[in-house]
Amino acid sequence: MTDTIITVAPTGAFPTKDHNPNIPLTPREIADDVFECWQAGAAVAHLHMRDEAGHGTMDKHRFIETVGLIRERCDIVLNLTTSGDLLATDEDRLAHLIEIKPELASFDAGSMNWMHSTVFINHPAFLERLAAVMNDNGVKPEIEVFDPGMFYTANYYMKKGVLHWPSYFQFVLGAAGGIAATVENLVFLKSLLPPEAIWSAFGIGAGHLPILLATLALGGHVRVGMEDNVFYAKGRLAMNNAEFVARATRLVQESGRTVANPASARRILDLAVK
Ligand code: ZN
Repeated sequence: MTDTIITVAPTGAFPTKDHNPNIPLTPREIADDVFECWQAGAAVAHLHMRDEAGHGTMDKHRFIETVGLIRERCDIVLNLTTSGDLLATDEDRLAHLIEIKPELASFDAGSMNWMHSTVFINHPAFLERLAAVMNDNGVKPEIEVFDPGMFYTANYYMKKGVLHWPSYFQFVLGAAGGIAATVENLVFLKSLLPPEAIWSAFGIGAGHLPILLATLALGGHVRVGMEDNVFYAKGRLAMNNAEFVARATRLVQESGRTVANPASARRILDLAVK
């Protein structure tokens, strides 16, 4: 049977307690939430940090504290964001990778107009540097693709030898400014990949469930969590991230697959044992 990796993205950079009072923001809240998600079947946790005021921050000390609390309790694979604060410097976006050397980190393969309100900048010079820091520190890039152009940007870096096959892609559908969260778009994005690519996908907001179901149908790995969607169902806020993971676990099993544990996720993603 094929293992399916469930990634949980519990926090993100933007949702607040006003959007959903159950979203975990502090290191302790995030660690407790991730532990419950690991128990429910998540093999990977994609983490963002918040400052005392609840704003997205790249403060490496928040990452170190949270990672320490999670590591006391479970072996979930850690995937740290490199874009948790649009005002952060390039140095701020790299410091935690050098310090923590996580197994995975996000590589956002291009810039975009973000949510019709600001610009999410990933300068070519930054992307080359990011790839080099990841290589030097044994961090595998999770290549985040918000529109098809980002796939071709990643492909360019493959050809240049900056990124390497077989790679791991995360398709993000439904972020305003990027490709819309439709099943047709997901089929198209998946068709761009060579057969050896490992891939996962998720939809933002209302696109969450259709993309989850279609990703399972297409044989991809999945991601759930309040970074992407704070509603468990229309009009019903999620109580925690674990209930998203529990639903994904049920859907994976009903689709005839098995849920990857962290050890099998490490094998699938070819992560160096640390
Ligand atoms: Zn993220």
